[in-house]
Amino acid sequence: MTWGRNNLLKLLFCSMLCLLMAKPADAHVPSGSTCHAYSDAVMTIEAAVQELAWNCEDTGWEDGRGVTWLRFDNWDKEEPPLVFVSRPTVFETAAIFVLGNDGSIRGDTFDSGDVTLLKAGPLFSLPLPELTEQSRSVVVMIESPHSVTVASEAQLALDPENAEGALTPALLLAMVAGMLVMPLLFDCLFYMVLRERFVLLHAAMAISMLTYVLTAGGVITAFIALPNDLIARTASLSWVSGSAFGGLFLASFLEPHALPRRVRKALVLCALWTFLVPGFAGLQFDFSQSFDNRLFFYAFLPVVPLYSGAIILALFRGSRSARFLALAWLPLITASIDRMLRGMGLYTAPDSIDRALFVALALEVIIVALAVADRFIAIRRERDLARTAARNFAQLTERDPLTGLLNRRALEDRFETLRAEGYCTLAIIDLDHFKTINDCYGHVVGDTVLRTVAEALETRDDDTQAYRVGGEEFILMLRGRNTVARAEKLRDTIRKKTADHAGMDGPVTASMGIVDAPHDVLPHADFHMLYNRADQLLYEAKAAGRNRTMSEKLKVFRPRGRDKKVAA
Ligand code: GH3
Ligand code: MG
Ligand code: MG
Repeated sequence: MTWGRNNLLKLLFCSMLCLLMAKPADAHVPSGSTCHAYSDAVMTIEAAVQELAWNCEDTGWEDGRGVTWLRFDNWDKEEPPLVFVSRPTVFETAAIFVLGNDGSIRGDTFDSGDVTLLKAGPLFSLPLPELTEQSRSVVVMIESPHSVTVASEAQLALDPENAEGALTPALLLAMVAGMLVMPLLFDCLFYMVLRERFVLLHAAMAISMLTYVLTAGGVITAFIALPNDLIARTASLSWVSGSAFGGLFLASFLEPHALPRRVRKALVLCALWTFLVPGFAGLQFDFSQSFDNRLFFYAFLPVVPLYSGAIILALFRGSRSARFLALAWLPLITASIDRMLRGMGLYTAPDSIDRALFVALALEVIIVALAVADRFIAIRRERDLARTAARNFAQLTERDPLTGLLNRRALEDRFETLRAEGYCTLAIIDLDHFKTINDCYGHVVGDTVLRTVAEALETRDDDTQAYRVGGEEFILMLRGRNTVARAEKLRDTIRKKTADHAGMDGPVTASMGIVDAPHDVLPHADFHMLYNRADQLLYEAKAAGRNRTMSEKLKVFRPRGRDKKVAA
């Protein structure tokens, strides 16, 4: 198991590393430098160009303002760009203007519904008005955008769908999505055998992350055309549910000793918080446009330290599962922090960096699936041990500690089965004047005699069973032929075996009451019925002078009345 797991981990790491090192494909050809500006309300393009404070650095990106403005001044004049490309987000309208050297302005307006999502990645495009030699600037106005990245990662491009290598990220993402499906299958299989809550939580986490990769990664657009708004919202919400289920999973998955109750509670509360607060922001309502992007990313701030802290604490407390989680969540937490900081507009990076997040996601789900498998094996082992212990305990309670024979409880428990297996003769053997033996030779000798009697009664044959049912009282269950004679022989063995018993002057004798109740004659005879009758016979044997046997073959006869009667 260890060999296989280690090698699988190495293999995974290598393949992930190769994927990460693969040359990032250019989904679009960047063109021109971007300046950005913000206004609280829509204004004319002329006013915007002249009056707004344009920032041409890659800093100071803002969210939550009414209108975001972008300006592109340079592009390849030989091969001018054809489309405006950026990351999907919820917005109201977008307008693209081309300003000419002669002061002319040409433009088009689009709303969210006109947006085409690209198959090449998590991108949308809008067509540019034709750029000529006379074109000086392209200005893009985005009304009520719900994210920073729609501005900070915007570019002008040639036809991005046909760009060389455009399919590579889609292929990579499809692979990642495939890897996410695998743990889901694992989870289903695990849950069939092990009904643990953490298996379901892990499945929920895997489904959320799969949805995130499909939507935020843009893979889904290769299969179905979905509206830009829906993709943007689903991406945010699947990230929210993946994170929240992650917290619940952590609380339920780590071993009982790994986390104090308070930390588990905090994880559950944090998951609830994630569902509610970033969940609300992720819905991207019109009324929350001014703050939802910031709320979304800032609300995640307590999540990362709490999850990491819980794992570190569990590591210190010697949790085996935490070792897997540390390995699984380290790349994911690093990639999430990067995504969070970019979401806050603190810095920008090429969108290819998102691929690191997707790969980290796949890694996480796969390593956690291995952790679940490992835990699964541990739980199975614990369960087997507990079962063995319970079986041993049951055996202990069924055995008489002095002689090692099964006790009355064991006999009563299995009496029906024994009858069904043909044990139809029940004999009670009681030692004669045993009290005197104790009185004369002491209890220690008395105990040794009881052990000797047990040895005498315990035969190797499959058709006789001996039980100690009271102080000096034993029961034999017999099946097969000549049961009474065989019991009688065993009773006699007691005398023979104790004849030269150390410390005693003479042998110990026993009296016996024995009933033979064939199953076909008395199919409903129960333990108490046979025991009582044998006990009466024993009493008669004692009364008749001891060291003898009284036996009876029980028969049933049907009188004319309705009741069956048992008679000797
Ligand atoms: P009877 O022939 O009528 O059966 O006489 P008895 O003395 O055998 O019967 P009684 O029931 O009066 O005494 C049974 C004795 O068995 C009493 C008790 O001290 C003894 N005894 C019961 N269990 C044990 C045990 O585990 N060890 C020893 N040494 N003695 C036991
Ligand atoms: Mg006795
Ligand atoms: Mg007795």
